[in-house]
Amino acid sequence: MPKGRLYIVSTPIGNLEDITLRALETLKKVDYIACEDTEHSLKLLNYYGIKKPLISYWSEKEKVRAEDIIHKIKAGHNVALITDAGTPGISDPGAVVISRALEEEIEIIPVPGPTALITALSISGLNTEEFIFVGFLPVKQSQRRKKLLELSSEKRTLVFYEAPHRIIQTLDDMLEVFGNRRACVARELTKMFEEILRGSLEEILDKLEESKIAGEYVIVVEGQQEKERSFEEALKEVKELMKKGKGRKEAVKIVSELYNLSKKELYEKSLKTDNE
Ligand code: SAM
Repeated sequence: MPKGRLYIVSTPIGNLEDITLRALETLKKVDYIACEDTEHSLKLLNYYGIKKPLISYWSEKEKVRAEDIIHKIKAGHNVALITDAGTPGISDPGAVVISRALEEEIEIIPVPGPTALITALSISGLNTEEFIFVGFLPVKQSQRRKKLLELSSEKRTLVFYEAPHRIIQTLDDMLEVFGNRRACVARELTKMFEEILRGSLEEILDKLEESKIAGEYVIVVEGQQEKERSFEEALKEVKELMKKGKGRKEAVKIVSELYNLSKKELYEKSLKTDNE
């Protein structure tokens, strides 16, 4: 059994003071700190006067550097692994080192702390009881829409990460695929230009276009609601009745009464789906 340990340490997602006492103690006592970008991590380490040998790793180098980290731990050294922000392994590197450490029966100790997804979800005002973390959506629009379509009947709250240059396009795609659901867009959490937008996707898009698009974003979207589902089912029934020879108006009247839905809304939706 190797003598050294691997500590997985969460660091701030912006505000340098969002770090636990245990995380600081851990960073002070280990022999090495493995980080993504040394320059970035030095800002945090210098702020707390922590001087340690750094092992730099990033996605492409993770495999090679993992061996170096494992080698050091097997030689009896303690290593703390951090990323540029938040919790390692959450849309961040870390998985390769962890799975290699497990293969070598190295003890892995979590030192928890901030993560952007939980920070955003907790203040979103949306249902936090059950949620799904999707992380980054595909960059290609066709693939992104495909993924959104797969998620469209999900009832649990959905949490996404997004880059500033894609935020408008992604919200547009969500509006198109999910409909005008409630959402929360959290920008630059814990930082100087923190901004939290809540409302329908349409309202958020309006507000976003007015403000400056920059920084880091988390998008939280309400899951599919009962009402949306019944509209979907009702639309299918309208189609069926129309196939059997009823006019749209008559079909909508029958189904809206059956499902207790707004006749006007069902009529408009039925027209819209026919034109798609
Ligand atoms: N490991 C990190 C965590 O635990 O949240 C996530 C790293 S991932 C490479 C970076 C993405 O996380 C950003 O593009 C953004 O979507 C989100 N993010 C990180 N910090 C944020 C912040 N302060 N405010 C809003 N979103 C943030």
